[in-house]
Amino acid sequence: MQHKNFKNIDKVVFGRGSFSMLSDIIAPVRKENKNYFVFVIDAYFKGKELVKRIPALPEDLVLFEDVDAHEPTTQQIDALRNTILAQKGLPSGIVGIGGGSIMDIAKATALMLTNEGSSTQYQGLNLIKKPGVYHLGIPTISGTGAECSSTAVLTGPVKKLGLKCEWTVFNQVILDPELIASVPNDWWFHTGMDTYIHCIESENGTLNNAFSHAYAEQALSLCRDVFLNEQSGRSAQNDDKLMVASLMGGLSLSYSEVGVCHALSYGLSKILDYRHCYANCVAFQHLEDVYPQGVQEFKKMVAKHKIVLPQHLAEEWSEDILTKMAEVAYNLPHMWHQAFGEAWKEKVSLLYIKDLYKRL
Ligand code: NAD
Ligand code: ZN
Repeated sequence: MQHKNFKNIDKVVFGRGSFSMLSDIIAPVRKENKNYFVFVIDAYFKGKELVKRIPALPEDLVLFEDVDAHEPTTQQIDALRNTILAQKGLPSGIVGIGGGSIMDIAKATALMLTNEGSSTQYQGLNLIKKPGVYHLGIPTISGTGAECSSTAVLTGPVKKLGLKCEWTVFNQVILDPELIASVPNDWWFHTGMDTYIHCIESENGTLNNAFSHAYAEQALSLCRDVFLNEQSGRSAQNDDKLMVASLMGGLSLSYSEVGVCHALSYGLSKILDYRHCYANCVAFQHLEDVYPQGVQEFKKMVAKHKIVLPQHLAEEWSEDILTKMAEVAYNLPHMWHQAFGEAWKEKVSLLYIKDLYKRL
């Protein structure tokens, strides 16, 4: 029997104002490679107060990335890597400041700085050949768990799949809940629900064990405080809780896996460009037969925060679109295995998945 021997984040700081520790944390790393740092920042922060607090030295590169146009792509990472190497050579490290998109951009770029060729050739498990440069993540929106996962999800010409290996995991994460206060309400909800759905899928799957259960149970309890219980809603205390829930939801998946909702979500993202967390919410509401209690509770949270999710989307989708999305989803065997066990093919077919999409 092989058990997972997973790689955790090397170091984690949690606390309000901990962003201020960034300068001291990266100082010793500056002696590596060409002695400069790259800061990759969500373009939302351009001109905002936070940028003034970034401890960039004159030799550092500060790059703003627009994450609204699309989710991170292989082409984008290749271009970023080429720009960095052409301008200044191999950096000491990369700091990513932003949401799941920027976390993945920072992780993928750190790897691609030392691995030749296009990132498309490394989409998959353990295909990366060499460790990347030091990378540090500072999440500014909570829910995806990208701050602790061993994958950097990229959309390529053929597949939406992560660069997944031990070296993908951040060397350091700074969790400062002050940074998520400005997240717009709909993103706060959709991205927060990614954690909730990670935990429901982790708990209700065949790979769940005491380790993943412990994290998922605690993350679910924090999610209920943030989105469901009497004190739910936007507050400093709930931002603290959501940031920890995101991390714990992610850690739950290090032993367990996501399931049916995420498989559908990947099809929606790859074929129709739906954003990951929004796509999850769109799909999850219709999976009451697979995750009965989870979906019921999810609907209460949707109602409580007056979130409007679209209905009757499938009426607009051709058979061709449905087939393409079903093919993307079918090709995620680890998710179906998690949901239905080793014999998942007895239940899951393209037809079954197309029928799930038709509910949306
Ligand atoms: P995001 O990074 O795509 O950002 C969502 C929006 O929130 C953007 O408009 C961004 O500018 C804005 N934003 C971020 N922080 C803000 C702040 N503090 N104030 C105001 N606006 C802010 O959001 P996300 O949902 O965290 O990430 C989604 C991405 O994460 C997808 O690309 C998905 O594939 C990826 N993902 C990765 C993993 C993993 O394990 N690597 C897991 C799940 C999802
Ligand atoms: Zn997710």
